[in-house]
Amino acid sequence: MLEEPPQIDGQTNVTSSRFGSGAIDGIARDLGRFIVTTMDLPWQLTRERLGAKPAAVLMVESMEEATVEAQVSAAPACDAVMAIGGGQAIDLGKYLAWKRGIRLITVPTIISVDAFVTPAAAIRRNRQVVYLGQATPDPLVIDYDLIRTAPADLNIAGVGDLLSIHTACWDWEAAERAGRSTFPFHADDVRRAREILIEVERLADDIRHVTDAGLRAIVEGYLRVNTLCLPAGHYRVEEGSEHFLFYELEERTGRAFIHGHIVGLGVYLLCRLQQNRAEWITALMDRLGLSYQPADLGLDRDTLVSSLRNLRAFTAARGMWHSVIQEREITEAWIDEALSGLRFA
Ligand SMILES: [Zn+2]
Repeated sequence: MLEEPPQIDGQTNVTSSRFGSGAIDGIARDLGRFIVTTMDLPWQLTRERLGAKPAAVLMVESMEEATVEAQVSAAPACDAVMAIGGGQAIDLGKYLAWKRGIRLITVPTIISVDAFVTPAAAIRRNRQVVYLGQATPDPLVIDYDLIRTAPADLNIAGVGDLLSIHTACWDWEAAERAGRSTFPFHADDVRRAREILIEVERLADDIRHVTDAGLRAIVEGYLRVNTLCLPAGHYRVEEGSEHFLFYELEERTGRAFIHGHIVGLGVYLLCRLQQNRAEWITALMDRLGLSYQPADLGLDRDTLVSSLRNLRAFTAARGMWHSVIQEREITEAWIDEALSGLRFA
């Protein structure tokens, strides 16, 4: 059954949307010739439900630019591209739609990352992520039953990039006070970002249980973040020191993490350095059932300690935005205290 799509004031990067269980059924009728970008599992779940057969199916092989470019060049002519799956399948679809200048339909089958509402496609160039192009879904299809076929833990991870508002906004305010904001500071954007977090708190039990309302809350949260970040041209209200710790850990370990889980760990630690309502946000993350413990992430204590010790030098060397990492020193005593409540692999 279809629901009223969310009414959101401002620029969201979504031209139209279909919300509700069964929203995917018959979506490809009247689409003309279309190409699907996907992976095995999401394609098996959806192929019989679209109401029409695609001219071609592009399976994600790798997000390296040369691979993606070769797939896109070899794809047949078409009127539209339908991206079905998680972040990579969506990014491949966005890239194809942008390159061909054709209509994009996005069908996330998991909401662990926000690729389905952001304009640019994340592609890897020499293993570094670069953001290319611009594409807007028409429509964005949010089919709750379809999304619930993904593991609950991964859908809950979608809330990580909303929780990061807690630490990122503190960082932006601190940067402004220090005269090092990089971007024009808007107190009203910070206020509106914090309202998104309050909405997450209001619907925390729904998010934990992955109900329709909980999934919708995460998607709406992303759309509201877009209304702040797209006009501003940066993601400062939701990206700060908690993400910087993740970047350090990713570079140090050379492994991939579930984005929302590692960002959750960053929120847990950096809000303690900020002395910023640590008990409140920790209780909220626990209530949401977010897996932010190092043990959940397969992270040992020594690695995390080394990362924290290196964080100030790392962010300075990379020219990352001013944050609590420059404002307050990470001492051995602080590390011991901050890590005392965590479980390790
Ligand atoms: Zn993020």
